[in-house]
Amino acid sequence: MPDAVLTPGAVIVRGFPADLTNLIEEFVEQWNSDEVDTLALIAQFASDLSRVSHAQIIELTNRKLVLSADADDGPLGLPVEFPQEVGSIVELQAVLMDLLRRARESVGHSVPKTGLEREISRTRGLPTFVTRVLRTQSVSPLIREVTFRGGLETFVSIAPDQFVYVLAKRLGQESPIREGVTMAQLMAAPEADRPAAAYYTVRRHRPDAGELDLWFVLHEHSTGISGWAERAQPGDFVALWGPRSSFVQPEDATDLLLFGDETAFPAIAAILESSKRPARVVVETVDETHKIELSHRPNVTIDWVFRHATPAPQSTQLLDGVRRACEQWSSGTYAFGAAEATPIKALRRHLRQIGARPKDLKLVAYWNSKRTLNP
Ligand SMILES: Cc1cc2nc3c(=O)[nH]c(=O)nc-3n(C[C@H](O)[C@H](O)[C@H](O)COP(=O)(O)OP(=O)(O)OC[C@H]3O[C@@H](n4cnc5c(N)ncnc54)[C@H](O)[C@@H]3O)c2cc1C
Repeated sequence: MPDAVLTPGAVIVRGFPADLTNLIEEFVEQWNSDEVDTLALIAQFASDLSRVSHAQIIELTNRKLVLSADADDGPLGLPVEFPQEVGSIVELQAVLMDLLRRARESVGHSVPKTGLEREISRTRGLPTFVTRVLRTQSVSPLIREVTFRGGLETFVSIAPDQFVYVLAKRLGQESPIREGVTMAQLMAAPEADRPAAAYYTVRRHRPDAGELDLWFVLHEHSTGISGWAERAQPGDFVALWGPRSSFVQPEDATDLLLFGDETAFPAIAAILESSKRPARVVVETVDETHKIELSHRPNVTIDWVFRHATPAPQSTQLLDGVRRACEQWSSGTYAFGAAEATPIKALRRHLRQIGARPKDLKLVAYWNSKRTLNP
């Protein structure tokens, strides 16, 4: 199967509000990179069941997408109309999931499940852990570590970048988290009763003690999870749904390129602890006073870059740092990066332009300055 039929940046995105276009472009590039088998299944369905070996989104508007696909009888351009106009990432996700469902219904089960379908099946069975804050401590001026204990005896770690969906009471709300409650029950409640929720990486799991440490970036929005973490006190309840993960280091990777802003520090630190491979790390934070210890390994180089007063979405420090660390792509390198959506999009383009293939990269927009990516 070819790795990509598109040069990075070739996707046309039209018809969305200007403030959303960047985000939608990154969303499409992430699908073109990570969900190639799902796109091939949708293309197979849209092409009236020609066998499709590879498909990419080449155009997306608020009313349709166009797939470029390699089929048995040659390359295809496949327009797929949406049943209704889409105006947000959430609506786009819903339309794509509906297309996937219809594609699966029509091709049947002779075609193996796609990676996304396997992930959906896995998440259906995920447990909700109701636990309590044991203690909190400051990791840096912007990062607060919260340690949880209780109700975590059956928590099983799955990967170094493992993350959980944290559900906690909103500012001024009576806590909806109680023993035995599930994520599905919490999210099905009327909006006013729903907790704040967002994904967080597990920094450390100590199974013998039944404890988890999470690192929360404090970003001065009091209503969400960051606000909750800033106020968290021993004994406070939270629900954790998960764990899930997205970092799968290929067996034959010779070295790692890891980069990100503060939200990625727990994943980067845990990946460095779990791997012995040489690693180049580029990490962005505010200034010298925000640096933290990430690794002592001699085969790890860490380049700290500082955005100072520039807001994270506008900062090019991470991109410039990765450019310096990786002028040419070498086969064998595997890259993991997470940050705000704008730098992630620029970084994906840069790495693709210097020769990285989609399968060499796991880049995730962990947050965005316009609105939350979390459901
Ligand atoms: C797989 C995954 C793992 C993640 N791991 C971590 C982690 O370990 N630690 C961590 O801190 N975050 C992590 N994040 C990011 C975190 O989920 C988001 O930052 C989330 O938006 C925080 O939710 P909230 O309720 O605090 O704010 P929201 O209600 O989502 O957003 C409120 C406002 O805050 C802004 N905002 C959100 N995050 C930030 C930020 N980091 N800096 C500045 N402004 C922000 C939003 O743009 C919005 O304007 C992860 C995300 C994913 C997808």
